Amino acid sequence: MLPKTAGVVVIGGGVMGASTAYHLAARGCRNVVLLEKHEFLGAEATGKCAGGIRYQFSTEINVRLSLLSLPMLERFEMELGQSIDLRWPGYLFLLDNARDLATFRANVAMQNRLGAPSRILSHDEVAAKAPLLQLDDIVGGAWCARDGLADPNGVVQGYAAGARRQGAAIFTGVAATGIRVKAGRVTAVETTQGAIATPAVVDAAGPWAGQVAALAGVDLPIAPIRRQIVVTTPLAGIPDDFPFVIDFSRSLYFHREGGGPEGRGILTGQSNPDEQPGFDQSVDHAWTEQHLEQAMARFPLLERAGLLREWAGLYEVTPDAHPVIDGLADPAGFYIVAGFSGHGFMHGPIAGQLIAEMILDGKARSLDVSQLRFSRFAEGDLVQEHNVV
Ligand SMILES: Cc1cc2nc3c(=O)[nH]c(=O)nc-3n(C[C@H](O)[C@H](O)[C@H](O)COP(=O)(O)OP(=O)(O)OC[C@H]3O[C@@H](n4cnc5c(N)ncnc54)[C@H](O)[C@@H]3O)c2cc1C
Repeated sequence: MLPKTAGVVVIGGGVMGASTAYHLAARGCRNVVLLEKHEFLGAEATGKCAGGIRYQFSTEINVRLSLLSLPMLERFEMELGQSIDLRWPGYLFLLDNARDLATFRANVAMQNRLGAPSRILSHDEVAAKAPLLQLDDIVGGAWCARDGLADPNGVVQGYAAGARRQGAAIFTGVAATGIRVKAGRVTAVETTQGAIATPAVVDAAGPWAGQVAALAGVDLPIAPIRRQIVVTTPLAGIPDDFPFVIDFSRSLYFHREGGGPEGRGILTGQSNPDEQPGFDQSVDHAWTEQHLEQAMARFPLLERAGLLREWAGLYEVTPDAHPVIDGLADPAGFYIVAGFSGHGFMHGPIAGQLIAEMILDGKARSLDVSQLRFSRFAEGDLVQEHNVV
């Protein structure tokens, strides 16, 4: 049975919602309720993502989010008692022209200044890290040994279990269908199972965050954009330390997937630059074909692999590829933690903590996230991130 009242209602049971519920409850916030429309948590963007975690971004705010969030993943198992299959194979950006190399050189200098241990590699250093790749056109790379991978489902389940232990109530199979606002303040959330009176609502609905914001009369520019992933059958010869490789100008990436006795497969994705916004999550097989052709050109060993699994999920893309982490003045009590534009899994831990601080302390205390305020869209004060794949 849904409660009739709540201190905070969190809408969405992906990494953002689960982290928010946990951080609120762990701070002693009573009557936290999380609603997820699917029967299972983490079934959307979070469960469909590639699991990559990295410091290598092109804006300070994203690097600062990583500097706080990745250590939270390192402490995760100790804090929450849930294994998240954390590993640190490093991220290797392949760069095929002098302009990108110069941009990444400047990014690496900024990352180093903030404390992230990334560096620029020569062609030969790239070849040493990724000898299986075809690198004739590559002029250099960017590398960070402290970038890696974690299991998104483990993170969602760990936060959800932690939130429940601290008294939060989590309801799956319940969708938010309306948000009541009275005199400029949120007063209740309507759901498929009745209304919950509440003074605070968190929009953590990922690709659907724009729809949820509209329920409160808020025009939030977050576009759902389909992105696809292919996992190959196991291949002999993939080393244990195969890095997360991003072929930057092709928006193409690879990382090792699985590690059973039968060998290791490769997970690969490529962003279709012509993909139009929409909620379609069926696999576009024509795109898979193009993607695999480019993947094999870069990684010839893949010609010997079969296709084990493929799926499509949705990025949640804002006009400047940065999230909104904010509490609104109108309506008061409406909080947004959404729009991470395809790299939100890794920032979920700190984002949930920051929203909890906004609700409980009146402002974010761990990091100044005023750049990520909702009003920047109306003000035209955008922050552009270039390291998006
Ligand atoms: C193919 C792909 C690869 C990616 N790779 C990476 C990566 O390597 N690293 C990385 O950091 N990020 C990656 N991302 C991005 C990452 O997955 C997202 O940024 C992150 O998971 C967003 O989390 P979320 O909780 O906001 O959204 P979601 O996980 O989508 O959660 C939102 C939830 O809200 C629920 N919901 C929506 N509307 C309602 C409603 N009305 N009522 C109740 N519930 C509702 C949805 O069902 C959903 O479960 C990738 C994404 C995709 C699609």
